[in-house]
Amino acid sequence: MTAPVSAAKRDRVIIFDTTMRDGEQSPGASMSYDEKLELAKILEEMGVDVIEAGFPIASNGDFEAVRAISQIVTESTVCGLARAAAVDIDRCAEAIRPAKRGRIHTFISTSPQHRDYILKLSQDEVLEAVVQSVTRARNLCDDVEWSAQDATRTEPDFLYRCVDAAIRAGARTINLPDTVGYSFPEEYAAMFRNVILNVPDSDKAIFSAHCHNDLGLAVANSIAAVQGGARQVECAINGIGERAGNAALEEIVMALKVRGETLGFDSDVDPVHITRASRYVSAITGFPVQFNKAIVGKNAFAHESGIHQDGMLKNAETYEIMRPEDVGQGATNLVMGKHSGRHAFREKLKALGYDLGQNALNEAFVRFKELADKKKHVFDDDLIALVDDALARGSERIRVVHLRVVAGTEGQSAELTLSVDDVEKKAEASGDGPVDAVFNAIHEIVPHAAALRLFQVHAVTEGTDAQAQVSVRLEEDGRIATGQAADTDTLTASAKAYVNALNNLFSRKEKGKPDTAIASGF
Ligand SMILES: [Zn+2]
Repeated sequence: MTAPVSAAKRDRVIIFDTTMRDGEQSPGASMSYDEKLELAKILEEMGVDVIEAGFPIASNGDFEAVRAISQIVTESTVCGLARAAAVDIDRCAEAIRPAKRGRIHTFISTSPQHRDYILKLSQDEVLEAVVQSVTRARNLCDDVEWSAQDATRTEPDFLYRCVDAAIRAGARTINLPDTVGYSFPEEYAAMFRNVILNVPDSDKAIFSAHCHNDLGLAVANSIAAVQGGARQVECAINGIGERAGNAALEEIVMALKVRGETLGFDSDVDPVHITRASRYVSAITGFPVQFNKAIVGKNAFAHESGIHQDGMLKNAETYEIMRPEDVGQGATNLVMGKHSGRHAFREKLKALGYDLGQNALNEAFVRFKELADKKKHVFDDDLIALVDDALARGSERIRVVHLRVVAGTEGQSAELTLSVDDVEKKAEASGDGPVDAVFNAIHEIVPHAAALRLFQVHAVTEGTDAQAQVSVRLEEDGRIATGQAADTDTLTASAKAYVNALNNLFSRKEKGKPDTAIASGF
């Protein structure tokens, strides 16, 4: 068991963000000039070390964005990508020229698959291209990074020769990408160890990991690379990138932070900006973030099961290894759903400002479970509507037992059963519209003189299964009573709201006058 590494002693890992380069290569993820500038500011504020702002030779738009970012960013290094070609390198140097700290990132493929099928170059020709490209870049910029594209499928000896040549030509960062997401942690870590061991001047360069997620191992491989000697990790916000994406920056940063004691590494990124960056990238790319995505997913800090909620309420460390606030997410979210327990329900209501007595709580809990069976998400607003509904309900002399409505172009009718002072009564009525038919049926069963002053429907929450919240106001002899009800079925909610208003009107009257039999009409 390794001794915990104190924060002061942890090695620093350089965070290299490629959201605007590799990330933007995701089909459909193109970002505008202004969006790139805004993102660069967020990344700089987060404390990202290197911002790969684009591929200047690729388009004028890319060139302009890299140059503009080079003008505004002062804390982070601004990097542009270039193939092992003079025109690319010159264009890249021009783009990053305004940068306080600029970097040229040049690359060439080294694997047999790429040499034979894409480059059609021999090993020696590739080696020559490495030397020429890095030398040219070094003549234009002090900070040059060299990448061996498809390093993980390259013959080890040839890889050593290429890395050695790049370092001798002046590259200060050596990036060994798992370009096709083929590697796994032990293997990737071993590759770094072997390169560092077998390349004489390896101590003159910083080694960098760049992992794709084709097998879902990008983050694990990146952490393994750090354990193998890498001190830079290339990653992207929300893990966007070619095909299945890149290692996710937020996951790298938090893995280092949360497990720093064991891993012995950390970065300078301030995680409190993570959620903001994630939401911004999601907004500008139109790529939604998976609900269960680590760190930034909507459910990353949401707990629904009763057991977990109970644990969370007793001590958050029972089910959370980091605090949502640490990554800029609001507080832990105890999602109320059909798995939620009574303890969490009571605590949630307290958080919403309700401290119900035992009976009211039991009744509300039963209604909550009924709703949770019907509705996928039970939002705070649903709970408020549910409890208000229960509290608003005065004496429950009248209750909706059963409602069936026929509506459509062939006319509307409602079949209704009410319990009136615990006696069930049925009626059927038609009307100008389904709501009118329902209210007419209520009149059939409980004749009354009250006039309808307000009928209002609004959705409690978003979503097609949202509850409808209905408010009804009745008036009789200057006495006004309102009733509210919420239900996933608008007509049921309408019937219940009307009945609640009637109940309130009666209990008002009762407080005003001697007891009267409901059935005989008011
Ligand atoms: Zn990549």
